[in-house]
Amino acid sequence: MLNQATGTSPDPVVTLRDVHKSFGPLKVLEGVSFEVPRGTVTAIIGRSGSGKSTALRCIDRFETIDRGEIRVCGHRVDAPGLDLRRLRQDVGIVFQSYNLFPHLTIEQNITLAPTAVKGMPRAQARALAAEVLAQVGLGDKLQAYPEQLSGGQQQRAAIARSLAMRPKVMLFDEVTSALDPELTGEVLKVIEVLAASGMTMVMVTHEMGFARGIADEVVFMHRGRVHERGPAAMLGAPTTPELRQFVGSGL
Ligand code: ADP
Ligand code: MG
Repeated sequence: MLNQATGTSPDPVVTLRDVHKSFGPLKVLEGVSFEVPRGTVTAIIGRSGSGKSTALRCIDRFETIDRGEIRVCGHRVDAPGLDLRRLRQDVGIVFQSYNLFPHLTIEQNITLAPTAVKGMPRAQARALAAEVLAQVGLGDKLQAYPEQLSGGQQQRAAIARSLAMRPKVMLFDEVTSALDPELTGEVLKVIEVLAASGMTMVMVTHEMGFARGIADEVVFMHRGRVHERGPAAMLGAPTTPELRQFVGSGL
């Protein structure tokens, strides 16, 4: 997949180059670079506080960067003229805590952005909601309210809501870490099916087995830097003591 001569991919959907980000005096990203080729899955792993979420949030411009370059689906994310609305249409993001609107039904949660942002007719948006909910195995929950669903179902609904915008890339930030262990499997299954369908994805995860099974590339972050990067098999043969320790700790 990588060009042997240049180390770059021919068709990256996401590119980070030498990205720096500080919060006040705290340097959180210190020269992060990686790219995500179309149709591939990149898993970002690393200790708590290593900068994983910040890196992900920079891709969708929830954070602005101090230095470096980020390109996503043809958008120059770090440029002042960025069309944020179009970037957010191309990039779906799902966080740890499912942020569905509690006072809206699942259908209303899903139709909101397509109608409000894209101007999609209501009937079409409802058909779309039914389609994406079926895709995550919640075809019978259109009229339910979030509180009537389990945590795993809510997270699947949040994924469906993102899919309704027909994103070109999906970002997942520890989407199962707030769930009881028995509910993580159903969410990971949805992500797995999505990956198999060819969706380009970047996922921050602490589910090592899952990362190994699904990721085309693993990015190990350590103290704001990409400490090791390679195919998922590298988790079985880490070259740095830091990754060895991290994998060994079972985190
Ligand atoms: P990870 O996702 O790997 O656990 P984060 O990217 O969330 O790490 O955080 C990296 C560091 O940046 C942490 O020390 C965290 O406290 C700090 N940080 C993250 N967001 C902010 C913020 N908005 N303001 C100040 N510090 C932040
Ligand atoms: Mg995080």
